[in-house]
Amino acid sequence: MAFVITDNCIKDALCVDACPVDCIHPRMDEASFEGVTQMYVDPAECIDCGACIPACTSDALFALDDVPADKQQFIAANAAYFA
Ligand code: SF4
Repeated sequence: MAFVITDNCIKDALCVDACPVDCIHPRMDEASFEGVTQMYVDPAECIDCGACIPACTSDALFALDDVPADKQQFIAANAAYFA
């Protein structure tokens, strides 16, 4: 299981600071940051700690089992960013 960021993301990167394993990208200091519309969780690196959930102020982050029906496509979108 991994956590998933959806298009509610406003790229404030509060989750990046909360994540203990640096699996949320692109960070603000990465060259690709300006070109993306949202941030993504690397499903291979996420340890499912949940620390990012309270950090997110835009209701963009969900545990895999809690991703809303109309946001399911972002499960694949998060994985695809790291493919
Ligand atoms: Fe990072 Fe934990 Fe959130 Fe996974 S659940 S993205 S490891 S803060």
